[in-house]
Amino acid sequence: MTGFPFRNRGPAAIIRGRRSDPPLGGIPQMTTDVLIDRAIELLGEARHVVALTGAGISTPSGIPDYRSPKSGLWETAADMMEVASIYGFRHHPQTFYDWLRPLLQVIRSAQPNPAHYALAQLEAAGRLKAVITQNIDLLHGRAGSRSLYEVHGHLREIVCPACHYLLPAEPALDEFMTSGKIPRCTRCHHIMKPNVVLFGEMLPWKAMKDAQIQARTADLMLVAGSSLEVAPAGDLPEIALEHGARLIIINFLDTHLDSQADVIIRADVAQVLPRLAAPFLPPMPLIEPPAESLDVAALGKKPSHGDVSISG
Ligand SMILES: [Zn+2]
Repeated sequence: MTGFPFRNRGPAAIIRGRRSDPPLGGIPQMTTDVLIDRAIELLGEARHVVALTGAGISTPSGIPDYRSPKSGLWETAADMMEVASIYGFRHHPQTFYDWLRPLLQVIRSAQPNPAHYALAQLEAAGRLKAVITQNIDLLHGRAGSRSLYEVHGHLREIVCPACHYLLPAEPALDEFMTSGKIPRCTRCHHIMKPNVVLFGEMLPWKAMKDAQIQARTADLMLVAGSSLEVAPAGDLPEIALEHGARLIIINFLDTHLDSQADVIIRADVAQVLPRLAAPFLPPMPLIEPPAESLDVAALGKKPSHGDVSISG
């Protein structure tokens, strides 16, 4: 039950980037412009737009995709699964926190980029209903997104895996970064972990349920910076498609849903999203120069007798 009347997905409405396009900077500008114009049209027609973002929206802010074996953070995929997993955390918490330290350093000093701001502006303008993110870095919230579902958890809190006590992350992580002291639960003294989803852990139930509702309600899903490889968050666009939504994908790499997308843009989200948002944002206020500095001749208008009537 979506509550929206959906149009048929006519083949005439489908414009798609060619798979053979080179992924970086090699797409002819005309093609990207046409795709962006089509995406703007779809955004203008939609009544319930939901964005789904992944690591690619934060790489312009300097944050590597720590869940990817290709991120350069890992020698092998097995290393990644061993350290960044709930198993690794439980059995080798010091190794886990040693791994976390440089990542925390990068994330805590990162700033939202134009892609984050564009989504927040679209929401403020009433064009975007929600952002579902796989990122833990808090950049959407800092950019101003309010209707936000962080389905892989977030770095705002730390949690005790034994008694589930939650604490604000900042003081504990500040102390860890300066003194190396691993945070412990103030109730049961168990080692606490950032409230993020590690490999082998369940996704947060409430955020995921709300994200699924958003996906079912959407008549347009905008995927930005995700290759949709990590399930089940990567399955949300499929839920949207099953309920009749259109799909825009902005991502450098192929995804398994490319064949079902209405528009695919293989370009930098930090360049594309501000262009998608621009037509929907309120116009910048015009700043008029003070009246006494008005040079009538410079405005291309010759003074005439009719203009000199102010002194009366
Ligand atoms: Zn505890």
